[in-house]
Amino acid sequence: MKLNNKLPEEITDAICSVIGKGKTSLHEPSFNGNEEKYLKECIQTNYVSSVGKFVDKFEKHLALYTGAKRAVAIVNGTSALHLSLIIAGVKPNEEVIVPTLTFVATANAIKYCDAVPNFVDSSESNLGIDHLKLRNYLNTISKMKNGKCINIETNRVIKAIVPMHAYGHPCDIHEILLIAKEFNLKVIEDAAESLGSFILSKHTGTFGDMGVLSFNGNKTITTGGGGAIVTNNNKVADIAKHLSTTAKQAHPWHFYHDSVGFNYRMPNLNAALGCAQLESLEEFIVKKRKLFILYKDAFSKVNGVRLLEEAENCKSNYWLQTLILESENVNLLDMILKKTNNRGVMTRPTWTLMHNLPMFKNCPRADLSVAESLEKRIINIPSSSFLLD
Ligand SMILES: *Cc1c(COP(=O)(O)O)cnc(C)c1O
Repeated sequence: MKLNNKLPEEITDAICSVIGKGKTSLHEPSFNGNEEKYLKECIQTNYVSSVGKFVDKFEKHLALYTGAKRAVAIVNGTSALHLSLIIAGVKPNEEVIVPTLTFVATANAIKYCDAVPNFVDSSESNLGIDHLKLRNYLNTISKMKNGKCINIETNRVIKAIVPMHAYGHPCDIHEILLIAKEFNLKVIEDAAESLGSFILSKHTGTFGDMGVLSFNGNKTITTGGGGAIVTNNNKVADIAKHLSTTAKQAHPWHFYHDSVGFNYRMPNLNAALGCAQLESLEEFIVKKRKLFILYKDAFSKVNGVRLLEEAENCKSNYWLQTLILESENVNLLDMILKKTNNRGVMTRPTWTLMHNLPMFKNCPRADLSVAESLEKRIINIPSSSFLLD
């Protein structure tokens, strides 16, 4: 394929035509609401840690916003994934289906359970699990036995699936749910990047058995570090709360823990920041969606690249604006990354695919050709909500 040698320059110009020249990072938080006020309140009342009203308030508001019956605040998204997998009953030596195109935390959490990730391919259209290839794969490698999905190549139970909504774009969760039902798999949605993203009016993370959110500093809203489990199952939420708070039974003074729990609860300080950030969430999303429109217009004149756009019936939070190159050429990708970063425009490639990382290289996997191609074609560009201010 012929290389457009002007592409690095054209891409840099298109980005700068929207956000101006100066130095720009990929994603930074904005604090222009009640952040200081709520944090001060924590310090003045001495409620900075494991007890305090902001944790309850944050959980209540998260549940309201996402439409989930319950939300449980967790110390970070990775721990929320780990705990969700435990609650889903994932046991050592069982397999969990996960896309190879994801952030490392998704696959790490499976390893924390001594379980085995089984990597599947992604769709070109929304970067989430390709459900057609997934069904084919499961039909080929598994058989049902006593209601359990057995991988006949490894002789292990396939217990769960963790679809991920990439860069805020909802994946084909409806189709994945049907497959999960057919093969009796628990569904934990990695919605770490997709707070504020919906399919019709249903929030990502509320389709499966559990959904996981992240409020790390680079996400759409931040608690400094933080995460949450959302679920429509009260019992699951109660277990999540119990296990994330050292499995301590409520009592005025006795320390009685009924199982090996975790110290995974979110501190009140972080929840205070989260309460203030949630008040600004809608404003952030409006601005990020506006940024997309302007980028789209700027890139309409650039050949050889497209911007990832929300699908019909989907509303994306546009957490990270995502360019997808038409041609698969590592040199071109490097040239673009070099040119943009040299001009102070921070851009990043996508994650190294999970099955190419040393600790996952021997894990079972499906054909991953689309993800392999996408890895050479994805570039994230500056996406902070304040860029147009
Ligand atoms: C950010 C992120 C996580 C982990 O969240 P932390 O809060 O940083 O632990 C998990 N999965 C995906 C896809 C993420 O982007």
